[in-house]
Amino acid sequence: MVEVAVVGGGVCGLFCSLTLAKQGIDVTVFEEHRSIGEPSHCAGHLSIQSLKRLGLYPLPKGIVENEYRGAVFHSSKGNSFEIEFDSPVTCSVNRKFFDRHLAELAIQAGAKLSLGKHVESLVIENHNVKGVNVKFRGIHENLKVKIVVDAEGISSRILRQAKLRTLNSSMLVKGVSAEVDHVRDIDEDFVEIYFGNAYAPSFYAWLMPRRDGTAKIGLATKRGNPKQFLEKFKRKHPIASKKLGKTKIIREAFHPITLGGPISRTFTNGFLVIGDAASQVKPTTGGGVILGMRCAMIAAETIHNALKENNFSAESLSRYQRKWRKLMGFDMWVMLQMRKTFEQLSDNQIDKLILKCKRLELQKILRNFSDIDFQGKSLARIAWHPSIINLGLYTIFRTLLSRKSFNSAS
Ligand SMILES: Cc1cc2nc3c(=O)[nH]c(=O)nc-3n(C[C@H](O)[C@H](O)[C@H](O)COP(=O)(O)OP(=O)(O)OC[C@H]3O[C@@H](n4cnc5c(N)ncnc54)[C@H](O)[C@@H]3O)c2cc1C
Repeated sequence: MVEVAVVGGGVCGLFCSLTLAKQGIDVTVFEEHRSIGEPSHCAGHLSIQSLKRLGLYPLPKGIVENEYRGAVFHSSKGNSFEIEFDSPVTCSVNRKFFDRHLAELAIQAGAKLSLGKHVESLVIENHNVKGVNVKFRGIHENLKVKIVVDAEGISSRILRQAKLRTLNSSMLVKGVSAEVDHVRDIDEDFVEIYFGNAYAPSFYAWLMPRRDGTAKIGLATKRGNPKQFLEKFKRKHPIASKKLGKTKIIREAFHPITLGGPISRTFTNGFLVIGDAASQVKPTTGGGVILGMRCAMIAAETIHNALKENNFSAESLSRYQRKWRKLMGFDMWVMLQMRKTFEQLSDNQIDKLILKCKRLELQKILRNFSDIDFQGKSLARIAWHPSIINLGLYTIFRTLLSRKSFNSAS
């Protein structure tokens, strides 16, 4: 018997096990793949401030590929808006190396990593999760545990068995993340974001330069084939094609992104769910690493208390949900409203918004929006500013107008 079993050795499962092991808790992570960090589908664009808060920055050599001082937003019509900071605010991490670093830290702290082991099902007795059924080389093994942490990502197979509501599948987008060689005309200090329903319907495409002439690119889309959209983005986007038109794709990976905000209940008797499985992902950008790890940390604290009290009931574990909601519930709600609003904007309207941001000289105000993970609080800090009120009213007006014309057309 182990005290805690973590299903899934992605960032969230690993960070949870690291935090548990640091507290002297007996924890085993089950990862179905034979190595950590592979296959990697993530762009690894993370906030430096948030990594520092988690005690992870600076990272060991080789993990950080580049640091960025800002971002440039491009409309499909060729207009751009730039936000610049005095020093780097975000970075690009190599996800394979980042995840392996977390695994090493977890092992050093005393966690056990069980690779190549697929958790087939939960052991449930009288509505209490009591263990996991693990498959390894065709052999099934039942393992008794006090608490199971579900960090399986978006597949939600284990979550279903725990009878918890799964993520909102209507808010999934299909993502593609790629690496390209020989990009041209780029400023390596900036991440670039490209809008356009012809290239990334209902989402956006990104370009994250490295300092060796290569770059990470990618996009997500609600409809169609992301691979075809990426090709089109590289070749046809009026700005991106000048930088990417001649590049070759070195590596490509596909994976869905959950944008519907957190699931409604993240605990039951003897069971907690964290990360993508709980849809603890920013609905605006699809970034789930930092918020997922923050939740993983809260889950570990809750488990620590539950083990001390020898109480693994849903009531005891509900502290986890209360705590993560207090930390990010408001931000998630605001980001979900922003996503829903954004999805209603046409290319023309996004173009006008970008021009308006430029005209209102929002760069200076948006410098206070440096916390890109807690976007609700960041927005609240600048919401009083006349230019932001102006922009907010303009966006709402445009959205209502497009809804009205859509309704009358149909
Ligand atoms: C194209 C794309 C780009 C992205 N870019 C960014 C970005 O720039 N920044 C950012 O913050 N986020 C980004 N994300 C999101 C980010 O990748 C996820 O939010 C994050 O990786 C979630 O971590 P996780 O540990 O919850 O799940 P995962 O990383 O999915 O890990 C789950 C693990 O569980 C294992 N597993 C599943 N079921 C079982 C089982 N039954 N038994 C054993 N093991 C199991 C899987 O093999 C996997 O290793 C991106 C996502 C995509 C698709």
